[in-house]
Amino acid sequence: MQPDSQILKYDIMVLGAGLGGLLCAAFLSKEGYRVGVVDKNKQIGGSLQSFSVKGHRFESAVHYVGSLNPNQTLFRIFNYLGILDELDLQKLDATCFDEIIIGQERFQLAQGYELFQQKLTERFPHQREAIQQYLSYMREVCLHFPLYNLENGDANLKSKVSQDSLADILDRFIQDSRLKAVLCGHHQLYAGVPDTTPFYLHALIQNSYIEGSYKFASGSAKLAKVLQDLIHHSGGKVYRNALVIRLKEEAGKIQELQLEDGRIFQADWFISNIAPGPSFDLLESKLIKPATRKRIASTPHTVSAAMLNIVLKKGTLPYVNHNRYYHRSEHIWDDLRPERSGQIQTFGVFYYQDSEDPGFASGLSVLVYRPFQEWREWSNTFRTTGQPHSRGQEYENKKNELSLEIISGLAHWIPDLASCIETSDLCTPLTYRDYLHIPEGSMYGFQKNVDDLANTTYATRTKIPNLLLTGQNINLHGVLGVSVTAVLTCAEILGLDELLKKMKS
Ligand SMILES: Cc1cc2nc3c(=O)[nH]c(=O)nc-3n(C[C@H](O)[C@H](O)[C@H](O)COP(=O)(O)OP(=O)(O)OC[C@H]3O[C@@H](n4cnc5c(N)ncnc54)[C@H](O)[C@@H]3O)c2cc1C
Repeated sequence: MQPDSQILKYDIMVLGAGLGGLLCAAFLSKEGYRVGVVDKNKQIGGSLQSFSVKGHRFESAVHYVGSLNPNQTLFRIFNYLGILDELDLQKLDATCFDEIIIGQERFQLAQGYELFQQKLTERFPHQREAIQQYLSYMREVCLHFPLYNLENGDANLKSKVSQDSLADILDRFIQDSRLKAVLCGHHQLYAGVPDTTPFYLHALIQNSYIEGSYKFASGSAKLAKVLQDLIHHSGGKVYRNALVIRLKEEAGKIQELQLEDGRIFQADWFISNIAPGPSFDLLESKLIKPATRKRIASTPHTVSAAMLNIVLKKGTLPYVNHNRYYHRSEHIWDDLRPERSGQIQTFGVFYYQDSEDPGFASGLSVLVYRPFQEWREWSNTFRTTGQPHSRGQEYENKKNELSLEIISGLAHWIPDLASCIETSDLCTPLTYRDYLHIPEGSMYGFQKNVDDLANTTYATRTKIPNLLLTGQNINLHGVLGVSVTAVLTCAEILGLDELLKKMKS
């Protein structure tokens, strides 16, 4: 028995202070509940964490977000919480949020449907009608997801547009292979595979960025901090360095959660922002059937990634207010093929503006796909800021090799890059696994498969009535996807109509 002083009581406990957990806690705090949030890390935010290399801030994951123009979905959600003014949002270029570079050809994806269509039509005049049809179908698909538009519609509507793969729809509308590559040139945003990724995933993400692309000028960690402040001001608390090791179920309900350090938290509701597999691993309960656990364990995850964070010498590389995706050729999906080998094909490049010299970049983050298996040799080692163990020289050598490969690959387009670099630091799939607790450091959780959607998406409700799930594995990943899912999770407690009404008023 724990002494009572070690038992803390809240109305609602949230496991994990990633975006999903923090947002749920913020919604519920705003509606008068006392909410406790526990996260294993020293820094909260999960994928919203920022960190510094030689005093320069870098994002661990989130470089830009969509749907943030006035009255769009994410705008409304943040507006409801009253946090918009605190987020330091910077709009990306209207004429180009993403530049897709294939070989030496450059294509701009613009904000707003009209400009997006116009700029692509200028480059592919023979595909004028195809572009129009693709865009109008994409918008139609988005309307089949009511909650994505903050509507309480028929949840079955989406099944009408969920059967088609990305390849099916591209082939239906578009003949030009280069245009297809341009439209999917930022596939790092969903780590999709054309034959199995549902078209709707591409559509919901593409649409959100066309609607309004922004970056967090002072870092995505600001979002986590602002949400934490809101929770604290409402009488709740976010606990750091608080690893959950157990959820106790009795009489069909979760009674309490236990931390590694022995503290126990009791509540009426428990919301888990931890991926479904690790969430259920915390729980010894017959209510979660072995078949469910087995199904979760066998669901494939999206690939992992490595990110090279480069501190630039001052005044060496001009800043651009958009992102760049470089592909060696039109074979833009090659890095995702299981049999891949040889050179890296695709590089996502994200710029940081030098606040003292805004015409120049102070740093770059370069994102490349990397399978977890490549790093399996060190999979039994664990490392975070709180546990900064070394993985040994061979691991460091492998990191150096990959860093050099990325820099020499990019030299194809930025020939003098090496001479602009002051220092750099590489995040590997193991870094993502250890900081985010995502199995195999997967970028976006479960890999959605159009042929097996039922087994690659999960509900917010569980068999245990007072245990809810939230986060990127449920429905849709990304800041927008996770935010919409948090609305759905909290609707179980607050009521969907009431919550949506407040967000839309
Ligand atoms: C490389 C990369 C780039 C990305 N770029 C973008 C982008 O530009 N734009 C965009 O919108 N999205 C982007 N995303 C996706 C986006 O970051 C995620 O979908 C989203 O942030 C996930 O939020 P979450 O709340 O589901 O989970 P997470 O952020 O993973 O949070 C889960 C939290 O649970 C905690 N936790 C886990 N286990 C325990 C435990 N046992 N006890 C206590 N705490 C625990 C973790 O510490 C973590 O804080 C990117 C993702 C990656 C990996």
